[in-house]
Amino acid sequence: MNMKIAVIGAGISGLAAGRELVKAGHEVVVFEKSGGYGGRLATRYAGKGNEQKLDHGVPYFTATSDEFKELVAELTSKGILSTWSGTFVHRNESGEISEVTPDSEYYFAKEGMNSIGKYIGRNLDIRLNEKVGGLTHIGENRRKKKSWMLNFPTALTESADAVVISAPARQAYALLNTTIDEIETLKMVREIDEVEYESQFTLLTGYSGVQMPDWNALECDDDIIEWISNESTKRESGKNTLVIHTTSEFAKMNMNSDRQKVEDLIADRLITILGGWAGLPEWQQLHFWRYSRVKNPLPHDFMEIRGNDTPLALVGGYINGNTVESAYLSGLKLGKHWAEQFAD
Ligand SMILES: Cc1cc2nc3c(=O)[nH]c(=O)nc-3n(C[C@H](O)[C@H](O)[C@H](O)COP(=O)(O)OP(=O)(O)OC[C@H]3O[C@@H](n4cnc5c(N)ncnc54)[C@H](O)[C@@H]3O)c2cc1C
Repeated sequence: MNMKIAVIGAGISGLAAGRELVKAGHEVVVFEKSGGYGGRLATRYAGKGNEQKLDHGVPYFTATSDEFKELVAELTSKGILSTWSGTFVHRNESGEISEVTPDSEYYFAKEGMNSIGKYIGRNLDIRLNEKVGGLTHIGENRRKKKSWMLNFPTALTESADAVVISAPARQAYALLNTTIDEIETLKMVREIDEVEYESQFTLLTGYSGVQMPDWNALECDDDIIEWISNESTKRESGKNTLVIHTTSEFAKMNMNSDRQKVEDLIADRLITILGGWAGLPEWQQLHFWRYSRVKNPLPHDFMEIRGNDTPLALVGGYINGNTVESAYLSGLKLGKHWAEQFAD
């Protein structure tokens, strides 16, 4: 049975599900609210003439399962993925620096993390800048056959036989809440309501005429700065750039603060950690991640409303882990499950 399947969100979980479902012969349309692919596998074009590529979301990821290693091998063979090798260091509360040996390979994309999303989604019909505002279940009491209607803020609608929601749990919650009077989504809504996220501020900085650190990344025991990525070690176009991620506690405390104040607090601490040069960037940009990583992932591969009539499923990086890998596996497993369930 070929179906029209709407996927909400073009992060790695939604794209993985979409790719499997297209392979199985279904018509898939992906609706993405932002202007780019990959979700939190995100790349910012910054600096003079926007020539510098910086990964302001996930800095790197690891692979443990066979299925994800298969994707890593595919992306590596296409020249998209590389191993981020070099020196990784840790700074303790007293300011002492020690080298850290990663216990597995760190992967990143030379052309920017968003190139992973572009590759996985290359054969998909992806509609960018299309935010789904709500869902309506068209039940059997209407004349039409059972289906889902996706509602957009522009008042346009799209119909689909099945829906995959791959947005972060809080956003999935808001979408599911729009269906609650119509179909049995209450159990799912209650469960995802429990999911809690860390938040982070990310400061992107670019320098000229300075000697950049010789490490790839610095992890800090600090109340403001958690992680500094030296993007210069990833790619030529990230020359003399740093991406600084704050702690979740700092982000929570300052999420409503004046953005200039936030930048100043991060810059002051950066000077303490790296020295005076780090406080004099040529340019800088601040980003706020309301949903960075999940604290309490749900113990499923994916979640679905069972039955063949109007299926609906949730996939994403809050299910069975809080990583890029768990997000991918969630989408892949749902895609394979539906491909089997809805085979002719
Ligand atoms: C700063 C940071 C650091 C991280 N560090 C690591 C790390 O070191 N290692 C690791 O493995 N993971 C890390 N993660 C977590 C990892 O990025 C996520 O687990 C994973 O990318 C989630 O993928 P996803 O597809 O589930 O969600 P997302 O990537 O969030 O994709 C969801 C997509 O849905 C879209 N969307 C939402 N609502 C709607 C709507 N109503 N209509 C249409 N589209 C919608 C969003 O725009 C987004 O593109 C980090 C994340 C951040 C932000």
